[in-house]
Amino acid sequence: MELSRSQLDGQHRIAQTAQFKMLNDVQTTGKYRRSSCVPRLVPYRFIDHESHDTIRTMVIDVHCHMVPQIRRVCSSAKRFLFEPDGANGNPGFDAYLAPFLTRNPFWRFFANCAGFPLPRPDQETPEDLVTRVIERHWLDCPSVDRLVVLAFDEYHTDEGVAVGPIRSRRHPGSSMYTSNTLVHDICQRYPQRMLFGASIHPYRNHALEALDEVHACGAVLVKWLPITQNIDAVDPRTRAFVRRCGELNLPLLIHYGAEITLATQNARFQDPAPMLSLLSELRRENKMPPVIIAHVATPGPPFLGNRHFRTVLRALLGEFRDAPLYADIAALYQKPPCWNAILDDPRWRGIHGKLVWGSDFPIPPFVWYPYRRLWKLKRDVIKHPSWIERSYRICRGLGIPDEVFERAQSIIRH
Ligand SMILES: [Zn+2]
Repeated sequence: MELSRSQLDGQHRIAQTAQFKMLNDVQTTGKYRRSSCVPRLVPYRFIDHESHDTIRTMVIDVHCHMVPQIRRVCSSAKRFLFEPDGANGNPGFDAYLAPFLTRNPFWRFFANCAGFPLPRPDQETPEDLVTRVIERHWLDCPSVDRLVVLAFDEYHTDEGVAVGPIRSRRHPGSSMYTSNTLVHDICQRYPQRMLFGASIHPYRNHALEALDEVHACGAVLVKWLPITQNIDAVDPRTRAFVRRCGELNLPLLIHYGAEITLATQNARFQDPAPMLSLLSELRRENKMPPVIIAHVATPGPPFLGNRHFRTVLRALLGEFRDAPLYADIAALYQKPPCWNAILDDPRWRGIHGKLVWGSDFPIPPFVWYPYRRLWKLKRDVIKHPSWIERSYRICRGLGIPDEVFERAQSIIRH
């Protein structure tokens, strides 16, 4: 699924020209020369030996959430058939946030830092605010070529009923919702920048038809967060969905391990093992889809143990070494024990060949720990208004190799 040269030539020339101009500007002004150990901000290039052309591979952020917002159904957007009135659990909305999130002082503080003050539960987010956030964070990130923008489906009960926003973390319900229609509409507006990451709960009525519909409209992957959305890997509906993704060769981005920002509805689903068994079975039938495990299934606070993290590492380097199983490193630098393990623990040698980069926007790209290497670079590395660009620079500064930033190009649909 590599991009053909003609696609690169046709679609991306403008972006390339802009980036090479930036490179020239940097070299002329010496803006990034103050520190000799500043990470390489120049896009990676390789030589096509037949034509001797220089072709640049793409840096793709596979894990970018939509700006947290509350939006009523967008009548001007081309709507998916399975979302005629937005959320099933909260009809009339294309995006919502549970009140426990909008009231949380930490969320409010970080949202203000990012330039999008959170609305009150009864308010709608103004469209011009969303546009400003997109311009600052998504369009002004010169090191990144494409962002996979993620929809986020609602919590569904075991009976397949969608439940709207939860009142507190103790109640069943959805922490947030972003419709596929809303995300698809944004991606249509910025086709040179954004790729459509769908989210469809497998317990939905007619989930497979919905999957076919987003696939036909260019979805590059499907995102799940089982502990928050209530998705059991052994449920027949989940198995049918994953099998269908395999038939379509449509990747899944699945978050196992802990989640600290949103409500955990079913902690049992932190464990990636049942999904790995299913993938093993599908692989034997030649129907395994590409799967990216978000955050390498890391725990929340490090003291909670890293059992699931090690399960995923073992699978990546063992049984699934030659299979399309990957893990993303979105915001992983905020968990030093796991970060150090993937960076240079000899037990996990070769793991870089299975990693993919993501920013996890809008999770703040702040480094809480005194990484010695980054400390030296801090001023140059961190300084950028776009949180996605900052996330990229932090990962570069901490030593993540080129291949990790570029791997998504060979995994996701274009
Ligand atoms: Zn995420």
